[in-house]
Amino acid sequence: MDNGNSDNGRVIQHWYDADHDPLTIVEGEDATVYDDDGTAYLDFLSQLYCCNAGHSNERITSAIAEQAERIPYVSASKHNDARTRLADDLAEIAPGSLSDVFFAISGSEANETAIQIARTIQDAPTVLTRWQSYHGGTYGAGGLTGDPGTRKTLERYAATSGVEKFLPPLPSAFDAETPDELAHQAADHVEFVIRNEGPESVAAILTEPIGGTSGAYPAPPGYFERLREICDEYDVLLISDEVISGFGRCGEWFGIQTEDVEPDLLTFAKGVTGAYAPLAGVVVDDWIGEEIRSGSYDLGQTFAGHPISCAAGEAALEVYRDGLLERGRERSPHLESRLRDLEDRFEPVETIRGRGLLWSVVFADPETGEPFVHPWVDPDADNPVAAVRSEAQKRGVLVGGGRPDVQLIVAPPLCVTREEIDEAVDALAASIDAVFGDE
Ligand code: PMP
Repeated sequence: MDNGNSDNGRVIQHWYDADHDPLTIVEGEDATVYDDDGTAYLDFLSQLYCCNAGHSNERITSAIAEQAERIPYVSASKHNDARTRLADDLAEIAPGSLSDVFFAISGSEANETAIQIARTIQDAPTVLTRWQSYHGGTYGAGGLTGDPGTRKTLERYAATSGVEKFLPPLPSAFDAETPDELAHQAADHVEFVIRNEGPESVAAILTEPIGGTSGAYPAPPGYFERLREICDEYDVLLISDEVISGFGRCGEWFGIQTEDVEPDLLTFAKGVTGAYAPLAGVVVDDWIGEEIRSGSYDLGQTFAGHPISCAAGEAALEVYRDGLLERGRERSPHLESRLRDLEDRFEPVETIRGRGLLWSVVFADPETGEPFVHPWVDPDADNPVAAVRSEAQKRGVLVGGGRPDVQLIVAPPLCVTREEIDEAVDALAASIDAVFGDE
């Protein structure tokens, strides 16, 4: 199989999959990317759910060039004007009294840092995260992740000590008749886990407000409100992992704002710079910021808050503020309704779920009604959804793959047009038809 390695032989790709042609992407414009043969693809996964501002935003590229000329790097232990301005901007858009920013480089590090802070502040060892979650692939963040693929790769040595898992608020995890019942059962279950661990030993709950790579699943209404109450009752910090759901991806600056709940800490990465440069971090409530500053905090990374990335972040936030966030919000109903057509048209499409511009097409085997199983869960499993993804690529559309149940994840840049949505969903329909032949 040609897996693109002939011309790129020395690079070991991340998430390496011998059966998948990774493409060699060399250029991009708005929601389109081009491979080394000049073939165009609609980028309906924003590369890795991060190119929220599209691929050719000149305001962001100019800001990067200007910062590189002025001073490209300043130590993470000093102040820098671009860094300070971006922290101010983030404090302005963050929910409630979240106000102080500790920068990092990747989402994995941001999450590891958030739990380091939570454990230190709370003087308690345990962090709760949910099954069917993704929080990163380094040893620490991999231990927080509740995804079978990542766990399989890391589980023998990942830092899972002090991490307990709870069930996600998904219909498949509970026996609920209505969304309201599901919200109650799933939140009561979290309370049970906290009580079982001993509330004084639990530092924090870390969760995505809308499940990301596990299949774009929002919680049923009321779930997060109840989770907030439980956290307050047992003095547990609530950390919202906004690595995917932030910066307009789900219709607001941050995904948790679609739930009208304030976390105590929030982690971000990906969309903060529109992925024009690597940057991540943790925004903490002002009392946590004060507490950290009241002692010494002998932790950090060289490239955290890199000035070039901060300049990119400042420009990206301006771009979102000047209409892009609103535009993404306007495109959402069209994308949703076009995806819902797939649910009506194709028997194997079990449901469509998501929020904003983060959607999942969930498949089930028409013969059994059961979700298809990812080969990471069962190596002998047939994975027709991966074939749909390949068919879509052949038709010029890139989409993501959810796990552990196999889904397609659809997450275009916020600058996507209605016509591009129509073109991409038509291509997805043709791809589903090509694999399942079942219209
Ligand atoms: N949290 C979430 C919700 C993510 O989706 C990801 C990456 N997909 C991460 C954390 C880890 O981010 P990174 O790959 O930048 O380490």
